[in-house]
Amino acid sequence: MINIKTQEEIKLMKRAGQIVYKTHQYLKEYLKPGVTTNQLNKLAEEYILSQKAKPSFKGLGGYPKTICTSINEEIVHGVPSDYKLKENDVISIDIGACYQGYHGDSAYTYIIGKGTKEANYLVNHTEKALYEGLKIIREGIRLGDISHQIETYANKYKLSIVRGLVGHGIGKNLHEVPDVPNYGHKGMGPLLKAGMTLAIEPMLTLGSEQINLTSKWVITTQDKSLAAHFEHTVLVTKEGYEILTKG
Ligand code: MG
Ligand code: MG
Repeated sequence: MINIKTQEEIKLMKRAGQIVYKTHQYLKEYLKPGVTTNQLNKLAEEYILSQKAKPSFKGLGGYPKTICTSINEEIVHGVPSDYKLKENDVISIDIGACYQGYHGDSAYTYIIGKGTKEANYLVNHTEKALYEGLKIIREGIRLGDISHQIETYANKYKLSIVRGLVGHGIGKNLHEVPDVPNYGHKGMGPLLKAGMTLAIEPMLTLGSEQINLTSKWVITTQDKSLAAHFEHTVLVTKEGYEILTKG
């Protein structure tokens, strides 16, 4: 059963989403060569706690940190460490915050410095793939319509879709039903209704879609090609959608 959120729940999810958005904005100014991912993690944790929220990821399945920082061939669940960012690194930052029992979840990918032409192409089109998926959302479409939009966009720009990882419903739990794959068929899957909240999150690569689990947490591309990840938590409405993890 896909949860339909009440007005009160939506209010709390909007607040959680705002906190996630503001944490991303806050971290952005620190994204420079020499900064460690542990420093970013500490800043994010302090900010989230200052907003009377809790980091959603910390402790989830034993995850040790507040945010995920996935560098270059790392797709998701990169664990912050003493690694120092360097020129041309591609870093995906995934942040979740829980406010009065409700979660927000959002990811952005950044390039440190100018970046290579290929990296800019990947990051630019992965972000656009997210908005391509979002733009058709409204009550009455099917989940597969979103998946199909993202897949069509990724195919058009010759980027590989990481099929082993998907978006998700979100609310009282960080991960709820349904799964939201970044590939699929139009007209398939559950009907969307106003009040559903979903985390849509394309993960695209410049090379193969095959993935490796390289440590307890970190998922990388098998061929070491660059990966990018963009995610927003959205509310389905009668006329369209609202991005909850946006200013
Ligand atoms: Mg996320
Ligand atoms: Mg997510």
